[in-house]
Amino acid sequence: MKKLVVLGAGTAGTMVVNRLRKLLDANEWQVTIVDQDETHYYQPGFLFLPFGTYQGKDVIKPKRDFIPSGVELIVSPIDVIDAENNSVTLVKDQRVLTYDFLVIATGAQIRPDQTPGLLEHEWHKTIHDFYTFDGALTLARHLEQWQGGRLVVNVVENPIKCPVAPLEFLMLADFYFQDRGIRDRVELVYTTPLPGAFTKPVCNRELSGMLQAKGIQVVPEFQIERVDPDAKKIVAYDETAIGYDLLVTVPMNMGDECIARSGLGDESNFIPVDKHTFVSPKHANIFVLGDAAALPTSKAGSVAHFAVECFAENFVRYIQGSELDPSFDGHTNCFIESGFGKGLLIDFNYDTEPLPGRFPLPGIGPFALLQESRLNHLGKLAFRWMYWNILLKGRNTLLPARMSMAGKMTPHQN
Ligand SMILES: Cc1cc2nc3c(=O)[nH]c(=O)nc-3n(C[C@H](O)[C@H](O)[C@H](O)COP(=O)(O)OP(=O)(O)OC[C@H]3O[C@@H](n4cnc5c(N)ncnc54)[C@H](O)[C@@H]3O)c2cc1C
Repeated sequence: MKKLVVLGAGTAGTMVVNRLRKLLDANEWQVTIVDQDETHYYQPGFLFLPFGTYQGKDVIKPKRDFIPSGVELIVSPIDVIDAENNSVTLVKDQRVLTYDFLVIATGAQIRPDQTPGLLEHEWHKTIHDFYTFDGALTLARHLEQWQGGRLVVNVVENPIKCPVAPLEFLMLADFYFQDRGIRDRVELVYTTPLPGAFTKPVCNRELSGMLQAKGIQVVPEFQIERVDPDAKKIVAYDETAIGYDLLVTVPMNMGDECIARSGLGDESNFIPVDKHTFVSPKHANIFVLGDAAALPTSKAGSVAHFAVECFAENFVRYIQGSELDPSFDGHTNCFIESGFGKGLLIDFNYDTEPLPGRFPLPGIGPFALLQESRLNHLGKLAFRWMYWNILLKGRNTLLPARMSMAGKMTPHQN
């Protein structure tokens, strides 16, 4: 019996076991998946919790409901991976799992401990996050009572999960405070280490214009060094300080500590892999999928989905002795909530930045690329159903894993 061990039963790991269980002969392959948590979190839904659009129950389900029969789910923290000896030690009972092939999908977590001042006595009082389930729910309770002032959203460092989420948060906050009739009492400020609101030029122009029109101030190139929770200010390395009444932080995102303990990661515990095949350059039987991988594309569920599709077919070829097909192109697809029941959609890859146009059908859509529409907002809401019922279960969608230029307008066509 050959052994495949998958570490992490989040978005990527769950999709991997669902796809591979169908493709691998059950008489020849034993498939095991490990996670420390019984609960699966629909993380894109965290964005909606602070504003009361979703309740906690809308974004959680038991992990077991998504693990196919014939796959063993072990609930335990992972202690360490011994890549030289093809084994993984779990914290629970110090159990040792051996493997022929290993898929690492342990994701990324926020690390407020990496910024002095963030985790002190004001954490979850005047300093909040929405990148965790508890954080987003606590922020919802705080916002309900909040009567206005300066709300600063600060991104500590990139990469972060879903790089547009902080912008969505601000645009939804603008909508939320208008709805409550207190927008004139709220100053919205976005501080980012990037030179603009977003990395890619065409998208940056579009999003910057929208933020400006909504009265949201962008402070670019703000490299935060520390927070002074008593004086209520964030301070950059060059000593520039910005005061706040309410700080919503997107702390540093890092790979799990078990990656550091195993000596497999970079300084942020993300694991270097081939960007087209996900294979580790050091270990030909280790693949890394989802946010855990150090890839030059967004850390997003859509990336995990397209990546797993490319990987599953490739893995079957690989174990039959063929070369890996460098098929993954960095495809990312993301709805961006812009408030007032509208949203945008972006679709891009390693080589092509987000461009305007229609998606998925050229000229028809129904979704508009890089343009606000009601349908894009409805698409974002419908995505939750698709996540639980189609994507996690490893079912096929109509969306191609590789990005298509059909329907996109290049800058000279605009
Ligand atoms: C606020 C927010 C909004 C987002 N919005 C979007 C969006 O609109 N669109 C989009 O595509 N993506 C979005 N994302 C990103 C998306 O949720 C992630 O990219 C995706 O979940 C990554 O999947 P993953 O499997 O790599 O990691 P995860 O889904 O985080 O899974 C990792 C799993 O590994 C487990 N694990 C980690 N370490 C250990 C250990 N030591 N022992 C045992 N188990 C361990 C964890 O418990 C977890 O279950 C958003 C994320 C956030 C936070």
